[in-house]
Amino acid sequence: MTAAYPSTQLFIDGEWRPGAEGKTIDVVDPATGEAIGTVAHATVADLDAALAAAERGFAVWSATSAFERYKLMRKAADILRQRADEIAVTMSREQGKPVAEARMETMAGADIIDWFAEEARRTYGQVIPARMGNVAQMAIKLPVGPVAAFTPWNFPINQVVRKLSAAVAAGCSIIVKAPEETPAAPAQLIRAFADAGIPAGVVNLVYGVPAEISEYLIPHPVIRKISFTGSTPVGKHLASLAGRHMKLATMELGGHAPAIVFDDADLKAAVKVLAAAKFRNAGQVCVSPTRFLIQEGVHDAFLRDFTAAAEAIKVGNGLEDGTRMGPLANERRVHALDELIADAVSHGAELKTGGRRIGNKGNFYEPTVLANVPTSARIMNEEPFGPVAVVNSFATLDESISEANRLPFGLASYAFTRSVETASHLGQRIQAGMTTINHNGLSLPELPFGGIRDSGYGTEGGSEAINAYLITKLVTQAS
Ligand code: NAD
Repeated sequence: MTAAYPSTQLFIDGEWRPGAEGKTIDVVDPATGEAIGTVAHATVADLDAALAAAERGFAVWSATSAFERYKLMRKAADILRQRADEIAVTMSREQGKPVAEARMETMAGADIIDWFAEEARRTYGQVIPARMGNVAQMAIKLPVGPVAAFTPWNFPINQVVRKLSAAVAAGCSIIVKAPEETPAAPAQLIRAFADAGIPAGVVNLVYGVPAEISEYLIPHPVIRKISFTGSTPVGKHLASLAGRHMKLATMELGGHAPAIVFDDADLKAAVKVLAAAKFRNAGQVCVSPTRFLIQEGVHDAFLRDFTAAAEAIKVGNGLEDGTRMGPLANERRVHALDELIADAVSHGAELKTGGRRIGNKGNFYEPTVLANVPTSARIMNEEPFGPVAVVNSFATLDESISEANRLPFGLASYAFTRSVETASHLGQRIQAGMTTINHNGLSLPELPFGGIRDSGYGTEGGSEAINAYLITKLVTQAS
């Protein structure tokens, strides 16, 4: 089955348009290696147009009531839902994930829009008791200003929608620099807002050379806030640029999640939930479990069953029925995984299953399990961002927590135990933005989503998320 794949333009000041110099970049289907379309490439002239539009859009949108913003956003969410089947096929073609996963991502995106639309109506400030009867003191919440958002290719819609919805709900305008490798699905998200009637300039979409765009937008005086999702090294660079120019920033960066399974766990559930979490989106997920730490009593059984679960996964083109795991999104990941696995084996790790590219066309990779990997191996220290699980054993709770906290990352963490006491220790002592115990409960719009330490700062979910797009202003008024 092949599906028509749309080429993507920039969206600036309410119009779809080519880049000012007419340049485009090819989009490659990761399942076939073939170019399937193009995406427009923005120049400085396009960025200037987007900045001017965002400034005008901010004036209009920040003066629009939260109640009206809510209505428009709910409409955009419904449009997205109506188009989910078509968008899912587009996303699968450009990114590789199975259509069912792409559809779930699109539908979840609509739920995120709804969530933030509702939050917009609850951006309460405070009335602070005054020292004199004729004085009123108010802390009010106002939109921070035009936002620049930079998003990666692993979740083409989800990564944009969290930033876009929070910004638009708060009354900000936004310039989204979406991923060049997977441009059409995020463009469909922007189109849902355009078709819902968002005023010109409030939402703008550009593609091009990421570094050139970020170096231009972040220091620009029109931009007041930046939000980035991607790797830790790039995040540190952009955070320092934001700091130099006194811009607020949210950073959602890499992780290296521990998944700790205790002797008293429901082993069947642990294998099922963790295998699904590991191999979803071919492991190209910032919250993907990577270091599986299994207590000695159940280590061998877990390794056996988890390896069998990995071997049972049907890898194939995301458009084909029954595919559970698609290709890696780009060829860079294939080489990165080959190197990490070879390095682990040379350090004495046992390759239980997988470890190789599948075929010679497209970026298909075998679901891979490594066991007994020493901490000196690169994969124990670098985010693999692919379908590789590392399974090691531990003896005591303290040992597992100390290994979980060994790395500078702190995004997601997983655990399985029937002991309330153990669970309570894990919840308090694992240094991570998120710990999910006995199930995978991450990523719902109403829950905080974000990391600490080298995994970044700020949350992109839950009741705090909209605050990243608001300032608190004091108004004190005497009569
Ligand atoms: P990369 O570090 O080159 O890029 C990561 C993302 O940042 C991409 O979307 C890219 O377009 C963007 N980017 C890079 N330099 C930029 C700049 N100067 N300004 C603005 N944006 C910039 O790596 P990659 O090969 O695309 O991905 C590999 C690594 O990135 C993975 O190993 C993973 O650690 C990380 N990553 C994380 C997430 C996430 O969800 N947190 C998503 C994608 C990639």
